[in-house]
Amino acid sequence: MTTYKPLVVNEIDELEDVGDEDDIFEALDFQGVHMAFQQSYLELIDRIDNKEVDKKSPDGAIRIDIKRDALLYETYRKAQNNYSKVLKKVEEHEKDFKIKCFGRMRKLILAVLYADKKLGKRVTKFESEKLIEIGALDSIPVCPRGGEYSIIYKNGRRLFNCSIHGVLKN
Ligand SMILES: [Zn+2]
Repeated sequence: MTTYKPLVVNEIDELEDVGDEDDIFEALDFQGVHMAFQQSYLELIDRIDNKEVDKKSPDGAIRIDIKRDALLYETYRKAQNNYSKVLKKVEEHEKDFKIKCFGRMRKLILAVLYADKKLGKRVTKFESEKLIEIGALDSIPVCPRGGEYSIIYKNGRRLFNCSIHGVLKN
């Protein structure tokens, strides 16, 4: 009979906002939460698979200890719940970055339109220094995730693109 030491998982109630931190994974202990989830799952599978077979039973029937197994399921449920909460938080966090990035690209659009007028021709390349030089911008907005901005053409339309967040949709 295998001795079973249950994994202790405390359920996360609320997750703090982590602001602009780049190390959101660290802030949320993403790895720890994911590992706990994985471990609780493996324990569950392991127990169901073979460890609990009653050696004395001629047909090798699985002996179920209701109390202990309930704890195992509970641990798994908590770990899974924690993991999905953290995952959701990470997604929200990334969405915030995308919103900020798009906001910055909108500023760039205005600057490029200004440059079109000022230079009397359509700006075809994104050149930040040039935009500052002609007074279209004071400083260059940058992607909060470090993506690179460029002007691209699609169906004859001039669009802004971030290498990380994609094409700005108006
Ligand atoms: Zn971006």
